[in-house]
Amino acid sequence: MQRRWHKLLERQIKQSFGDVGSVPDEVRDFVVSVNRAYENFENDHDTLEHALELNSDELVRANNDMQAIFKALPDLFIRLDNNNRILSFKRGSSTYLEFICDSIVGQHIVDTPIDSPPGSLQKLIDECRDTNDTVSAELKPKINGQEKYLEVQVLPLIRRQLLLVIRDVTEQRQIEQVVALSEKQVRAQAQILVNLVTSQTIFQGNINTTLREIAIALAEGLDTDRVSIWLYNEDYSAIKCVELYERAKDQHSKGTILAAVDYPKYFSALEKDRVIAADDAHTDPRTSEFSESYLTPLGINSMLDSAIRVGGQAIGVVCNEHIGPARVWTLEEQSFAGSVTDFVANIFETDKRVAVQKALTQSEEKFRILAESADTAIFVFSEQFQYVNPAMEKITGYREHELLNMSFEEIVHDNYKEKIDATAITRMRYSSGTIRHEIKICAKNGQERWLYVSIGIMQFDGKSSCMASAFDITRRKYMEDQLRHQAFHDKLTGLPNRALFMDRLERALTRNRRKPTHSFAVLYLDLDRFKVLNDSLGHLVGDQLLVEIAKRLESVVRVQDTVARLGGDEFTVLLEDIDINYVLAVAKRINEKLVAPFMLDDEEIFTTISIGIAMCDKAYQRADHMLRDADIALYRAKAKGKNCYEIFDEVMRTRANNLMKLETDLRKAIDKQEFVLFYQPVYTLESGEIRGFEALIRWLHPERSIVPPIEFIPLAEETGLIVPLGEWILREACSQLQQWQQQFPERSIEMAVNISSKQFVSPNFVPLVDQAIRQYDIAEKQLKLEITESLLMDNSSSIVETFFRLKSLGVELYLDDFGTGYSSLSYLHRFPIDVLKIDRSFIGSINEYNNIEIIKSIISLSKNLLVKVVAEGIETQEQLKQVKGLDCDYAQGFYFAKPLPADEAEELLKDKTADRKVGNA
Ligand code: C2E
Ligand code: CA
Ligand code: CA
Repeated sequence: MQRRWHKLLERQIKQSFGDVGSVPDEVRDFVVSVNRAYENFENDHDTLEHALELNSDELVRANNDMQAIFKALPDLFIRLDNNNRILSFKRGSSTYLEFICDSIVGQHIVDTPIDSPPGSLQKLIDECRDTNDTVSAELKPKINGQEKYLEVQVLPLIRRQLLLVIRDVTEQRQIEQVVALSEKQVRAQAQILVNLVTSQTIFQGNINTTLREIAIALAEGLDTDRVSIWLYNEDYSAIKCVELYERAKDQHSKGTILAAVDYPKYFSALEKDRVIAADDAHTDPRTSEFSESYLTPLGINSMLDSAIRVGGQAIGVVCNEHIGPARVWTLEEQSFAGSVTDFVANIFETDKRVAVQKALTQSEEKFRILAESADTAIFVFSEQFQYVNPAMEKITGYREHELLNMSFEEIVHDNYKEKIDATAITRMRYSSGTIRHEIKICAKNGQERWLYVSIGIMQFDGKSSCMASAFDITRRKYMEDQLRHQAFHDKLTGLPNRALFMDRLERALTRNRRKPTHSFAVLYLDLDRFKVLNDSLGHLVGDQLLVEIAKRLESVVRVQDTVARLGGDEFTVLLEDIDINYVLAVAKRINEKLVAPFMLDDEEIFTTISIGIAMCDKAYQRADHMLRDADIALYRAKAKGKNCYEIFDEVMRTRANNLMKLETDLRKAIDKQEFVLFYQPVYTLESGEIRGFEALIRWLHPERSIVPPIEFIPLAEETGLIVPLGEWILREACSQLQQWQQQFPERSIEMAVNISSKQFVSPNFVPLVDQAIRQYDIAEKQLKLEITESLLMDNSSSIVETFFRLKSLGVELYLDDFGTGYSSLSYLHRFPIDVLKIDRSFIGSINEYNNIEIIKSIISLSKNLLVKVVAEGIETQEQLKQVKGLDCDYAQGFYFAKPLPADEAEELLKDKTADRKVGNA
């Protein structure tokens, strides 16, 4: 099944394994889990992203580096088998779980202390298996006597394995709790106080004396017999007497309760009227309800009552009652009674405020003790800081009095201001949650620090404010930055690497799609002859050279441009917001800048660079296509003569397209077997007889007649198609050889087969040759393999070994095209070469100055080493004469015969006169 990988991961997989479908089994589980984790852990996007970038090349090779990343990640990863037994784990920086050690492998996960409350882990796992989807929960195990909060995610892997990603969120939860607790305390206690005010228990002590004094004052002032003060109960269903002063007896009492249901008119009048002045209380509709039960028994005839209002709300009533004949309450009396009632109201109000204030101070005190001793910064702010704790002073470097004159925004780094600005706070208020952010601040000394802040809303000093806790995560961020930097930069030069470059290129493409005037270009740079320099001067100097070149490249471009090193001696430049003239100017400047010699190791080193340029174009859908086109242009620049630049154009595009078509055709051709072998005879110069043939491939293209190998072999090599094709060639040639040997037993015919380097180094090559020899019953030394010098340049031991294994199969090895590459006769010492083929370019210009001397010395040296020599490309009788004179062993060329189809070659074998042609020369 083909998976859909996360975009970024996909790029990494391609880079590491060539194809998204070919993730090796041993790392697949891991890649799958990273993919999921990537999708799930929004917060950790960055960390994961960089972890991914980092392990891209190294997924397979450098497991060690991966471990390092895991260490840097705060999470613990545990992989379970289908029975929920622990297969493996990566503990990352999660050192708090001491019981996670090697001996845990094999245990059932539910047997570990993580499973708390017991059974919850099993439930989570079951759910994950049922839904085959990621599930998560917070567990609260006790580890080493300490309660931990663990965020556990369970992700399904393949083969019914599971991945647990466990994160310690204890610290966060604890802070949340502290914040929540202090806030709750303020509110709860304030509420209790409000209740206390409306209940009666608060009127113990001095408020009672106050009320007594007031009652006496009223009785005196109004000359009444009874003064009473009443308060509503909580639900306004009754009033209760808190003070009754009976003047005649000079006696205070309290406690009577009057229910609203019994006296509805009176109660509703209390709501409406400021003063109830009932001259005749028996007949006044507001007070007549009291007549029988209350007034008559006590002998009361007139009442002057006024409601106690606090903030517009009646909380009680002050009653003045007159015993004896009814009296008329004057306006002055009414006003006095009202004023005293207002005073009572005031007393109750003040009393309530004091109580609330006291409660607040108490809770604030507790909060303060907590805050002052915490390591976590705790602060309250609205427009300005209202409170900061010592930890906040320590983190910011500002003193408390300084902070209290500043706003939070002031110390937040510009890029993060919007996270805590007014709109963010308002949004938070509506979503009624807390916000959590990682933000950067600037400390007093100018240093930047990273904070993890949680902000909630609370009442502070009677104002709605933000309460925040913050802890310093600078160290963690720094480590992340390090990782990020390593992941996105080249170690040697410090330049952005391929991943970063591709990312920027991708962004530029997106921007260009949105805004086509945003034009940009990619320059692909490659040092000319770097390999030679590196080999001759040594890698250290080579490295130094690359560093110096990086510096010069950077000096040529603007800050907004990107210079990257893709690897080896390949650099790229991304120029943004430019026009073509600017691009050409930069290319020219780069060429010029590199002309000046580099002083390395007291030596002057000269180098030049070739540049391929691709201009942005809306046709580009993908960054790598653009890079590929720049690469094609670079190839042209190199072909044109180095130290120059080329712009990718239509002609190149057509060529590239043709090449792509050729590649598809070639793949099909292999399936459809559109190939044949031609055979060109090789003659023994001494006897003039045909010694054997060289097999040369031809492609019978359905549309293009015969395609020569030069047009498709390089492509087959580049694409790897040469391996299956080469296998066919070898078998076909061996089959033909077998047929001819049987047909012409008197001639001992030999067959030379061209082998490309790619094919030679493939691990199946030797077994293939072995098999062909047996299958077609090839006699010892009848099969020759022609290889080129480029293979010998790679002086690795495995190649030497392959040589000897082939020799042990009885196969002879020919060194083809000798003299064209980095020819060195020293190869002949190191490798067991049997025959040397002098390249036909030497034969073609054999009469030119020096050539004959060169050929002469090659031949004599070869003789000394017991290596035989073939002269290739003999076209004229003259040339034949020359090589014969030089004591060459064999010859081949159009003069004798072109490469021929098998049946025509067979005619040559039958015709003995064909041999004589050589002798005649
Ligand atoms: P090569 O191995 O050097 O093959 C000799 C080339 O020289 C052949 O070209 C042959 O036709 C040509 N030639 C022979 N005598 C003369 C002559 O007198 N004058 C001139 N001008 N040319 C002569 P061809 O067949 O086009 O093959 C070109 C190259 O393609 C070969 O060079 C070889 O590198 C590669 N090639 C051909 N067949 C195969 C094959 O089966 N496998 C592999 N790996 N490469 C092959
Ligand atoms: Ca050859
Ligand atoms: Ca050759």
